[in-house]
Amino acid sequence: MAGQYKKVNRGVTLTLWERLYIPEVLRGIMITAGHFFPNLISTAKAYITGKPEQRKIMTIYYPEELPTIPEAYRGRPVLVRGADGKEKCVACGLCEVACPPKCISLTGGMRDDGTRYPTTYTLNGAVCIFCGLCEEACPEEAIVMSHDYQNLCEYDRSLMVYDKEALLIPQEKLTRRLDYIRRRMYSKCNY
Ligand code: SF4
Ligand code: SF4
Repeated sequence: MAGQYKKVNRGVTLTLWERLYIPEVLRGIMITAGHFFPNLISTAKAYITGKPEQRKIMTIYYPEELPTIPEAYRGRPVLVRGADGKEKCVACGLCEVACPPKCISLTGGMRDDGTRYPTTYTLNGAVCIFCGLCEEACPEEAIVMSHDYQNLCEYDRSLMVYDKEALLIPQEKLTRRLDYIRRRMYSKCNY
């Protein structure tokens, strides 16, 4: 596999032009300017015309501008709150078993109407590896990989241990991901 790496030529001999130093400095400045001015002009054009897509620069002005997240993106795993306001989770424990780093723990209980639900559900976001296996294992579409990438960092790891209330998100806020997993993960083309 060594062939795929570039070798550093340490015994390089500089030409007279390179040894003059100043021309090489000027060449470097020309390369920088060749990137800087087209970016500057395209940014000014986008600002004047109000069309950000005209900007050539590859960066965005986060957090004023947010990136477009691909629908396959696996962000913070969350629990789905159904249209009736209840958690869709039936506390079967499959996500807990499927989770490779074992960052999910839950206990199940029974409602008065005889349906099962998680009395406690804890997910350690500091341990999660965003593999999505909990989502795949869940028979109820009750846990999904949301597109949330902004609430993943804390200075204190203990704040990344999410309880059930912190994990529950109304299903209408997760429709893009739910649509995606129905079309791409459970559809026949995957079997
Ligand atoms: S995404 Fe993977 S690591 Fe994170 S909770 Fe789900 S199964 Fe566990
Ligand atoms: S989230 Fe899904 S897999 Fe996990 S316990 Fe609830 S119903 Fe079962």
